[in-house]
Amino acid sequence: MSAIVAGSINMDLVMPVEKFPAPGETISASQIQRFHGGKGANQAVAIGRMGKSVSLVGCVGDDEYGMLLLESLRTNNVAVEDIQTIKGISTGLAFITIDPTGQNTIVIVPGANHHLQPPAIDETFKRSTEDVTHFLTQFEIPLETVLHSVNKAQARGWTTVVNPAPARPREDVEPILDATDILVLNESEAEILTGHLPTTIEAAFEVGDSLRAKGPGTVVITLGEVGSVLVRDQQREQIPALEVEVVDTTAAGDAFVGALIVAQMEGRPWFECVEFANAGGAYAVTQPGAQPSLPTYDQIIQLQEKSSVLSN
Ligand code: ADP
Repeated sequence: MSAIVAGSINMDLVMPVEKFPAPGETISASQIQRFHGGKGANQAVAIGRMGKSVSLVGCVGDDEYGMLLLESLRTNNVAVEDIQTIKGISTGLAFITIDPTGQNTIVIVPGANHHLQPPAIDETFKRSTEDVTHFLTQFEIPLETVLHSVNKAQARGWTTVVNPAPARPREDVEPILDATDILVLNESEAEILTGHLPTTIEAAFEVGDSLRAKGPGTVVITLGEVGSVLVRDQQREQIPALEVEVVDTTAAGDAFVGALIVAQMEGRPWFECVEFANAGGAYAVTQPGAQPSLPTYDQIIQLQEKSSVLSN
């Protein structure tokens, strides 16, 4: 049983700030730290670190960051044979500021990530082994490639999982939803896709229903410290978050998606899958950075054993 992820690979440059700069304002950060990131790489690492077989399709530039990122993907149990190195282009970069409350702002330079085109997906799928069950992608690569890949993956009978992040205009996303089996998104992405911000659990159920009407059989909406909601045929559930100390919310969504797929690959019941995913997200907020904050399988189990759920 294995998963293929098509997505971005970035170097995150993280700057802690006392407060976010206002337009026109210049501020200083106390330091700059490098973390390995990119939603595609993060979610692939989440799956690999939790012990499941996973391969990443993507692009890096022919620079030092690209080499470092490839090396760390290998170390985290992610197959990198389908990652291309693009000459003369920078590896994707993300400039992240974090304030003392753990909130962040992010500016992305896509670089090589924009060079991931449909033929590379076809090549990867052609070479794929028979044990592939899940295909996962996000929106930090060209949407044309996302659309092509979900259609091809679904035609192969794989379960397609889409994390529509960062948000893109509704009209561009709708054809992708049509070929999506499982849609995992946060509340602001849900607002952009439906026009309704899910401010209550009931509203989240309704948003989930309206997204299901566009294609995905299952919709999971993450609601930060409120946890998440699951909307499927005949099933509407709220799954509360675990109570943890927040250090840095970067990659909470990526840990959530990775853990959800791992639990799905194990064939667990849906409610249990989302509980496991909530614990994955909760673990990530207790640690700084993107990939360093992604949990192992055992770290999720331990967090589930020792934490109580947040009552909001
Ligand atoms: P994103 O990072 O994509 O905006 P969320 O903030 O919704 O995603 O977080 C994803 C998941 O991580 C949530 O559904 C929840 O399970 C977990 N999580 C996020 N923030 C917290 C928190 N403060 N406490 C506990 N769990 C959290």
